[in-house]
Amino acid sequence: MTQSFVIIGDGIAGSSAAETLREEAPDADVTVITDEGESLYNRILIKEFAKGKLPEAPISIHDESWYDERDIDLRLNTLVTDIDPEAHAVETHEDETIEYDKLLVATGGTPTQLPVENSDAEGIHHFWTFQDARKIRESAESADDAVIVGAGLLGIDLAAICGAQGVEAKYLMRGNAWWRYALSESGAEIMHDAMREIGVEPVFESGVDRFEVDDGGRIVAAVDPNGDRYECDWAGVAIGLNFNTEILHGTGVKQNDGVVVDQHMRTNVDDIYAAGDLTRFYDTILGEYAQNGSWGSAKEQGTIAAKNMVEPESAEFRWVSSYSITHFDFPFLSFGHPTIGDDEVERKYSDTEYRRLALKDGKIVGGVLIGDLAPQSAYKRLMREERVVGDQKEILLEKKFDADELAPPQEQ
Ligand SMILES: Cc1cc2nc3c(=O)[nH]c(=O)nc-3n(C[C@H](O)[C@H](O)[C@H](O)COP(=O)(O)OP(=O)(O)OC[C@H]3O[C@@H](n4cnc5c(N)ncnc54)[C@H](O)[C@@H]3O)c2cc1C
Repeated sequence: MTQSFVIIGDGIAGSSAAETLREEAPDADVTVITDEGESLYNRILIKEFAKGKLPEAPISIHDESWYDERDIDLRLNTLVTDIDPEAHAVETHEDETIEYDKLLVATGGTPTQLPVENSDAEGIHHFWTFQDARKIRESAESADDAVIVGAGLLGIDLAAICGAQGVEAKYLMRGNAWWRYALSESGAEIMHDAMREIGVEPVFESGVDRFEVDDGGRIVAAVDPNGDRYECDWAGVAIGLNFNTEILHGTGVKQNDGVVVDQHMRTNVDDIYAAGDLTRFYDTILGEYAQNGSWGSAKEQGTIAAKNMVEPESAEFRWVSSYSITHFDFPFLSFGHPTIGDDEVERKYSDTEYRRLALKDGKIVGGVLIGDLAPQSAYKRLMREERVVGDQKEILLEKKFDADELAPPQEQ
């Protein structure tokens, strides 16, 4: 009998799963359902589009013919509204029922709105889809001033868009440094200087208490909790993601700040898998459940899920993620889980070079490299090998780090 696979979401997790399913099960029915109006595009590159540095075309990864050629049934503009695990079926907003043998939920997340007055006013942008990028580009091209909120990896994209579009921006941050969960103040200072150079002023111990709007409901200013008022033509908010899990309500699929899956991307409900940003997956390197919002990780999870949907337990997710930022004239890379751990080492080598490693039980679990990315492969290899190195911090921080200088691994 022909097997039928249904994937909800055509982001990188869903799309890579569809591709793998077609390779591993040439005769199966594969359906991909997305509520977006366009098939897979490169979410990582939409910031370059918003900066005005790339046209639309190179952002697209698959056009509709890609799905046709592989006999994958792509449903654009289709929202899945319900999953019935008993009936093995999903329902769409047009009341269509689509049955599955195996289902993959790869629905990612939706940006969180600030819980403050006028947070949905015209001119306040969140950043997740290509459509968002088009609107941000339009606003940025005609603006003089902006306010950015959210001191993390997406907020800095919004700051860089301001820089590239010649918009003067105030970057309102709650603490005393950008991405303070992964960097120390001295590391973050490199990023602050780079922001200032492109016309973006970091404002610390700030945030947004309310937005002010004009008579037409358009943003005119942000007021921070200290009462300071920042006039702006638009604002960009990037304070986190709410996972798109409403459709799992009533299915019995376990969630714990994310959809809980094992290393095979299996949920606790028969024949339902999940992949991508929305998972809380069993990380075989850490030996605990973890989360990761990055392109490479979502792609790999989609591939692993698909293999297991075809042949249970045939593949395991074991991955060290990377996330790089290329906005400034020095490179920046975060890898693994830089915000967790019970120990850390860090060093600033110059005004544009810095390294910090997060350790747990003496093993590297993540890190941030600024300026010189050369040691990244060695650190990642040590992480994959689960090598205990916490007692050799000086060697780890040597400018020209050489893993061969570490003491040989102990029997564990
Ligand atoms: C601006 C920006 C810059 C980024 N930069 C980087 C970077 O430099 N490096 C990096 O590693 N990562 C980066 N990321 C993160 C990376 O893009 C994500 O981790 C990755 O795209 C997640 O893929 P996903 O498939 O899990 O989810 P998504 O890409 O969010 O895809 C989920 C899809 O499911 C659809 N969907 C949701 N609910 C339903 C439903 N009920 N019915 C039908 N469809 C539904 C959504 O509309 C969406 O199309 C960036 C993200 C953004 C937004």
